[in-house]
Amino acid sequence: MILRTVVELRTQVAAWKAEGHSVGVVPTMGALHEGHLSLARVAKRDCGRVITTIFVNPKQFNNPDDLLKYPRTEENDAILLATAGVDTVFAPRVEEVYPAGFVTTVSVGGVSAPLEGALRPGHFDGVATVVTKLLGMSQADRAYFGQKDWQQLQMVRQLVRDLNLNVEIIGCETVRDPDGLAMSSRNQRLTAEGRRKAPALYAAMLSAARQFRNGKPLDEVLAQAKAAVLGEGFDSVEYIEIVDADMLGPIIDSTRSLRMLAAAWVDDVRLIDNIVV
Ligand code: AMP
Repeated sequence: MILRTVVELRTQVAAWKAEGHSVGVVPTMGALHEGHLSLARVAKRDCGRVITTIFVNPKQFNNPDDLLKYPRTEENDAILLATAGVDTVFAPRVEEVYPAGFVTTVSVGGVSAPLEGALRPGHFDGVATVVTKLLGMSQADRAYFGQKDWQQLQMVRQLVRDLNLNVEIIGCETVRDPDGLAMSSRNQRLTAEGRRKAPALYAAMLSAARQFRNGKPLDEVLAQAKAAVLGEGFDSVEYIEIVDADMLGPIIDSTRSLRMLAAAWVDDVRLIDNIVV
């Protein structure tokens, strides 16, 4: 069943809670693939009832063309979610989420400043605002996010801590195609040639992580990874960095967890990925 209004959602969740069910929420922008469905399955394993939200949030698109071209496949999404065991789909219209007179922005400092934060101005404010709203609307006990968007996941954790939100955040593994490409709704926009080139990003990252662990200097490893990606036909690399996995800043202590994050363009599509180092 697809719910469109906050009142309907709240009524549904209140009834579930009255029956003693725990409630999980999986926020998405639709155009669902196996990555999203894996989140829904983990949620279904943990929670009595699961809501998936489908909302293409205009506030998080810093590029109007990207918003316009964002794939929308709601009917098919609802079928996939039903097979994954999701109990309710919440797909509000833009006016339901941002009615006339809406003036609040949630802005998380620290972890959201570098990398995506620096390159996509306003993006994380848009994400933080909509996530805060979706958590408030759904009153879920647990919320599921993909490690695919590592920086976003860390930002959501920070947001929930800082604002004392009564929800547990669960980060789920990145799901990849057999050739290593991280699944993403934007992959649908790749031409056959772009799709052929795209796995080179993950391959270069794996090789860079291995070399770094073997003691090769950071600068050399990163420069080599960038050159490899460009050599495989990518148009540009916005960043490939190794950072502190939790803080997203420069490595301060190599005994802490490290993460390699990257963003690069192939075939007019911006791909992001990240791996453990
Ligand atoms: P999106 O629809 O792109 O906003 O993604 C919705 C949620 O699905 C986010 O928490 C993403 O991190 C997660 N997600 C997207 N792609 C993947 C993937 N390949 N593996 C795991 N989670 C993913």
